[in-house]
Amino acid sequence: MFEYQAPPNLLADRVILVTGAGRGIGAAAAEAYAAHGAKVILLGKTAANLQAVAQRIVGAGHPRPAVFELDLEHAGTSDYEKLEVRIDDEFGRLDGLLHNASLLGPRANLDEIPDADFIQVMQVNVNATFMLTRAMLPLLHRSTDASVIFTSSSVGRKGRAQWGAYAVSKFATEGLMQTLADELAGSSLIRANSLNPGGTRTDMRAQAYPGEDPQRNPRPEEIMPVYLYLMGPDSTGVNGQAFDAR
Ligand code: NAP
Repeated sequence: MFEYQAPPNLLADRVILVTGAGRGIGAAAAEAYAAHGAKVILLGKTAANLQAVAQRIVGAGHPRPAVFELDLEHAGTSDYEKLEVRIDDEFGRLDGLLHNASLLGPRANLDEIPDADFIQVMQVNVNATFMLTRAMLPLLHRSTDASVIFTSSSVGRKGRAQWGAYAVSKFATEGLMQTLADELAGSSLIRANSLNPGGTRTDMRAQAYPGEDPQRNPRPEEIMPVYLYLMGPDSTGVNGQAFDAR
């Protein structure tokens, strides 16, 4: 496990946007960020999931998060512009962006994957990540110390049979991170890094490994140290690196 002990006020007053915040790792990250003082913005497809996370955050005594319902498969430039205007109006800047939402898609050989499935995975995992990053950059530039985290996977670092569009999309995610990090290096206060959570007890893991005993993998809450480290000021100056949660 990545060793890091976050101080309780690590993210005091930081404004942090988390995609796929309604369940799994994204929900745990949003709750961990709020618990460390951040004002969080929850983005996801399913309103009920986002509201449940918002309720848990309020119930734990933290400020009510902003909630932005958006289906990344069908979102276009105007949706991202609307989000940018809303965050600008409400907060005036963005200090952190966790790109977490993803689709697994079919676990099949490449010659068995229909066009529509490949395109859908690339749209959610890559194209949406690009468009959201581009839209948020003006707000991130207003922060004194902003962090962008791209969620990767072990199959985004070495291809593996039957991981299909998902593996390709995670290589592209690493490419987005490296390109952005290089563009920002030396001239910006924004840093960009990738993070592979490793096998974690979520719906996606169960979908990828249907026969597996879920208890074999840590709960999302257990892998939060690296999510906190990369989002907080202790990682200032760390840019263009590929991290593993464990
Ligand atoms: P998960 O349980 O399947 O949750 C996925 C999240 O993404 C949900 O909140 C979902 O929102 C959101 N999402 C999916 N499609 C969306 C869309 N079209 N528009 C908006 N939001 C959408 O996944 P997870 O296991 O927590 O994974 C989180 C991240 O870690 C992903 O990037 C995944 O690739 C990566 N990862 C996970 C593991 C693992 O073992 N779990 C391993 C390596 C990498 P709804 O609730 O609205 O459906």
